[in-house]
Amino acid sequence: MKTAILSVGTEILMGQIVNTNAVYLSQELNALGFDVMYHHTVGDNTARLKETMDLLFHDCDLIITTGGLGPTQDDLTKETVCSYMEDELIFDEVQMKELEEAFKRYRSPMTENNIKQAYLPSRAVKFSNPHGTAPGFALENKGKYIICLPGPPREMKEMFNLHARPYLEEKADAKIVYKLIRTMGIGESQLETQLLDLIDGQTDPTLATYAKEGESYVRVASKRETKEEATAAVEDMIKKVRDRIGEFIYSEDNEDLWTVTGRLLLEKGLTLSAAESCTGGLFAKTMTDIPGISEVFDRSLVTYSNKAKMEELGVKAETLEKYGAVSEETAREMAEGLERVSGSDICISVTGVAGPGGGTDEKPVGLSYIGLRYKGETKCKEVRTRDVGRAFNRNRTMLNMINMIYREIK
Ligand code: ATP
Repeated sequence: MKTAILSVGTEILMGQIVNTNAVYLSQELNALGFDVMYHHTVGDNTARLKETMDLLFHDCDLIITTGGLGPTQDDLTKETVCSYMEDELIFDEVQMKELEEAFKRYRSPMTENNIKQAYLPSRAVKFSNPHGTAPGFALENKGKYIICLPGPPREMKEMFNLHARPYLEEKADAKIVYKLIRTMGIGESQLETQLLDLIDGQTDPTLATYAKEGESYVRVASKRETKEEATAAVEDMIKKVRDRIGEFIYSEDNEDLWTVTGRLLLEKGLTLSAAESCTGGLFAKTMTDIPGISEVFDRSLVTYSNKAKMEELGVKAETLEKYGAVSEETAREMAEGLERVSGSDICISVTGVAGPGGGTDEKPVGLSYIGLRYKGETKCKEVRTRDVGRAFNRNRTMLNMINMIYREIK
């Protein structure tokens, strides 16, 4: 079914909020087998809302709106949709009771304008709102459908999953299954070249590559009559992808590199410590985002200055003088010193030039050295990222650290 997402709210047009509802709904609707053709946003204005529905129904059979269901004057989605779908609002006693109970629970007085929320289109399939007071609904007229959901993302998601999803599952004429394969260490253009015949030759499953923050993704999607058929087609295609670029794949389930690496560390019971210079704690922050990682993650020392590298890790003054803080030799000594103080199974270190200043011809911004001490051996990797700013450089460097650990223990 051809579908449009219509976000209602002047705040979105003013750039005051980011339209995360459209992102969420698009992902969910595509996965349910609906073809999302348009994203539109209108302000709180009846005439423009009607015009936009006209425009969208020209091509689509289903519009999903979010926002504008609240009790105030500018919340006009329900009223506008109701008259557009040639229906009338009627007082819903059950809804009124739910509202009264909700206000009792919130211990706040119910004001006159809240009564507006007890009115629903007479033919509506009502969607109750466990996290708020505005109910949502689905309404049909002459083979066209509108689903109205509230604006606040938490309310919208809950209502979508509880009510809209089962409603839509019945209406879906096909099932889409897709998987996101994540790779590291291969650029998007190289990836595309390796998979070109698969990308060009296929109509279903389809294959698409794209790059995101230092990684490259492959999206494999299939749309079939049943979910089982679509899943089998996707799995079959993934096998072909694996044969060609298997060595670069770290997740076939859209998981982050650190999640996969953290799980491996936990499974293998390997303890980990870090000594960070240019990443300034970013590695530690990322690793400690993983629930349960405390079982294996011991510490990260932020040794930013030369003094700290010498005092905390025992890096030699001569090494720093002769090769510089950003050098293979320093990274190695950092990792080895870290092993002495932490005793961790894996000790990773990093030293680099995050920018914007501090770069030279010999050691440009974006250059870093990652040291890895594991099983009595020290390895070092030189990383050169494209200089796209300090935050990007540090993030890339941090991802390279995790990638090096992942490759080593996989
Ligand atoms: P309420 O019952 O809270 O009045 P509502 O359905 O009337 O809900 P709006 O008043 O349009 O919703 O929006 C309420 C809040 O929800 C906004 O201030 C904003 O924080 C959030 N919101 C609305 N639309 C979106 C959107 N498309 N994406 C993300 N957040 C949104």
